[in-house]
Amino acid sequence: MAPKSASRQRRCPNEIEAIIEDIVCAADEPVGAYDIAKIAAKQKCSMSPAQVYRGLNRLAETGSVERFASWNAFVASNGERRVHLFYETCKNHDWAEKHSVHLQLQSLCDRLGFRANSNHVELNGRCASCNTRQPS
Ligand SMILES: [Zn+2]
Repeated sequence: MAPKSASRQRRCPNEIEAIIEDIVCAADEPVGAYDIAKIAAKQKCSMSPAQVYRGLNRLAETGSVERFASWNAFVASNGERRVHLFYETCKNHDWAEKHSVHLQLQSLCDRLGFRANSNHVELNGRCASCNTRQPS
């Protein structure tokens, strides 16, 4: 049996979620589960990637974090309906409040009888600066 790390003590799911949420909120950019596990370990709050994933899933269900499928990463959410922009060339991320986009999507879902599991909207592309440097 592997020796148990002194800092990897048993934590309840609520403690784990609070640690994860703090890390995601403090991050300037979307963070993945392995990054979160590394940051937690540096803070002497070691947790396994499986614990991080479970915590992230619970936080995503409650709307505290948003999951980006494109990057398999998470950002804090304050409940605003945002459209996230991912810049594939420079690897930056930005967002815009676009309530009208969400209203149109909700209207489409209603018309189709479709029930969305998430209201996360993300677009992938190149930022204006990258477009200026490398026009396609
Ligand atoms: Zn760019």
